[in-house]
Amino acid sequence: MSVSALGPARAAEVFRRTGVTPCLATVLVGADPASVTYVKMKRNRCAKAGIRFRHVELPAETTTGELVAAITAITALSVDPGVHGILLQHPVGPHIDERAAFEAIAPAKDVDGVTMASFAAMGFGLPGFVSCTPGGIMRLLDAYDVGLSGKRAVVVGRSAILGKPAGLLLLGRDATVTYCHSRTTDLSSVVREADVLVAAVGRPNFIKGQDIKPGAVVIDAGYNAGTTGDVDFASAAERASLITPVPGGVGPMTIAVLLAQTVEAAERLLDV
Ligand code: NAP
Repeated sequence: MSVSALGPARAAEVFRRTGVTPCLATVLVGADPASVTYVKMKRNRCAKAGIRFRHVELPAETTTGELVAAITAITALSVDPGVHGILLQHPVGPHIDERAAFEAIAPAKDVDGVTMASFAAMGFGLPGFVSCTPGGIMRLLDAYDVGLSGKRAVVVGRSAILGKPAGLLLLGRDATVTYCHSRTTDLSSVVREADVLVAAVGRPNFIKGQDIKPGAVVIDAGYNAGTTGDVDFASAAERASLITPVPGGVGPMTIAVLLAQTVEAAERLLDV
């Protein structure tokens, strides 16, 4: 499963109507190699989508207080009219209060959907920015016309940025949702009931084909060392009706949603 990314036309249209180019600002704490790579990928995709990109780097020893001050005061991203979306690259490291850092992002610019305001809006089904990976999963399901109403959806993983919101979004579309996590007993039997399975565990090849219900739609959100997903693709593909590969499935959708939400934020902030 794959769908095309956001094209440059929408950002260009914002510029045509307002004279302002949508702008995403990223904040990176430290120099974790994976995080550096993710920021680079976002920069490249912004360039292709015609979105301006600003980047702020902070030393790894930054404390939460300093980080919040940096986000709000030094870079002033939340109040800068030239910035429409803000992304704090996470994880930010164990010494940082990540929640406090996220909450420094103005909800109107929270294009990564990490603030409590965004999460609540998603939970209530109100307009707002969704967490990008779950948002990308929903776009994939829609692009492939996967009916969700009345379907049994199983989400393996319950992190705040991925599993939990993915389940809420599926619930919002009338799926019957079950969450699995590290304390779930007999996980295989729950997974076997899934018409739609979302794997968000962070363990390579954790879910095997033998547990996939024939005809199920399988979304593998995992991205593990060696570019391996959470689902054993070869065995699962034999039973699934649709399945996302790793790489090339959910990952590119995450950035596509980030960019789409950046342009959307610009449209709202500029009253387009
Ligand atoms: P996370 O915060 O570590 O959460 C992992 C979840 O899996 C937790 O809820 C955990 O349960 C559950 N889990 C762990 N071991 C389990 C087991 N043996 N049985 C059942 N459940 C188990 O990870 P995350 O941030 O959600 O990321 C999950 C995966 O998605 C990772 O591979 C990550 O790289 C990938 N990811 C991809 C993208 C993308 O753009 N493609 C974006 C974000 C994340 P507990 O809650 O009980 O601990």
